[in-house]
Amino acid sequence: MSLDAPSLGCTDTPVLKERGQREVFCGLTGIIWLHRKMQDAFFLVVGSRTCAHLLQSAAGVMIFAEPRFGTAILEEKDLAGLADANVELDREVARLLARRPDIRQLFLVGSCPSEVIKLDLARAAERLNGQHAPHVRVYNYSGSGIETTFTQGEDACLAAMVPTLPASDAAELLVVGALPDVVEDQCQSLLTAMGITSVRFLPARRASDLPAIGANTRFILTQPFLADTAEALERRGARRIAAPFPFGEEGTTLWLQAVADVYGVTPATFDAATAAPRARAAKAVAAHAATLRGKSLFMFPDSQMEIPLARFLARECGMTPLEIGTPYLHRGLMGPDLALLPHGPALIEGQDVDAQLDRHAGLAPDLTVCGLGLANPLEAKGHSTKWAIELVFTPVHFYEQAGDLAGLFSRPLRRKALLKGDAA
Ligand code: SF4
Repeated sequence: MSLDAPSLGCTDTPVLKERGQREVFCGLTGIIWLHRKMQDAFFLVVGSRTCAHLLQSAAGVMIFAEPRFGTAILEEKDLAGLADANVELDREVARLLARRPDIRQLFLVGSCPSEVIKLDLARAAERLNGQHAPHVRVYNYSGSGIETTFTQGEDACLAAMVPTLPASDAAELLVVGALPDVVEDQCQSLLTAMGITSVRFLPARRASDLPAIGANTRFILTQPFLADTAEALERRGARRIAAPFPFGEEGTTLWLQAVADVYGVTPATFDAATAAPRARAAKAVAAHAATLRGKSLFMFPDSQMEIPLARFLARECGMTPLEIGTPYLHRGLMGPDLALLPHGPALIEGQDVDAQLDRHAGLAPDLTVCGLGLANPLEAKGHSTKWAIELVFTPVHFYEQAGDLAGLFSRPLRRKALLKGDAA
């Protein structure tokens, strides 16, 4: 099978690096989708009331009888160094674990306040492991908002787990990135239909399902923002399978093809496994492409998913990307998507929000993908926007979600057309 692609796409497009004011959420946000995925984990943010409010509002109004995240609030006496925050943390963790024997993985999540007072959560995790392992495994990572963006929380969380995974020589495929269970099941059945049955997932739904890794592990990312996790896996000897990310019909097919090539899947088997869902995905995307075709696109840097999504929107939906901003541009991970992205858009790494807003005003794109903080003011000025954060809260990977992914972008344009009283 071959898919038509421009020879180089944006591979050699110069990237403008901006280092100015940013408009992004911090990595604590990742807890919202990670706690849904990891059913016996608890995320304990060591932070301030601001951190607690961010989590609560990002989580919406979900009420759980037994929530799987919380905030250990650093009070003024902790911040002023008048109380030993370590003693208080140990006490709170002991209380939590006594009340919640279902918790098997505990993540101590650092925040701006815990970093400002230099609370050493790595050491705290080590100490708490001494007290609570093996029943509970304690990890730590930083969700701090200093110089980060919101998807880095998942990367930091998964990267923290990798060094503790057991070693194995088994030749297994590891699929990396937190996928909703239903999407993970779809991925597994596509791989099974291709004859690939030794498949593990990181993160796993439960601690008992955590993968073992070693030199015979091949891994493939499902999210473009997992650079630290990929490096941590490579340090354990695992080898990455490079591929475009599985967004849209084409992205999913090329992702699966990259796996199929490594495992020697025959073209006939590949086609038998993918033909029907490919056709469904292409049809579902086409329904939205009618609205998106010919429309211009501007992406502010936010989710780190911008390059693969711009590739999807340009190639499968017929949009014209004008400027694609991304917080970090990791050429190693993004290479296959950059090669497919049609030549044309300006590529920006990092953010200088005022300069970007000026360029945005000049270009007046049909659709703007941005963070929540920019969306309302831009809508007020008459622009159609899509919140980047929805891309991680909504199932968007693989064939069955391709139509929903396109729908996320076509909906704001349809709504605007309806408000104006003409057909989209
Ligand atoms: S940016 Fe810092 S202080 Fe604000 S919610 Fe995130 S971790 Fe807490």
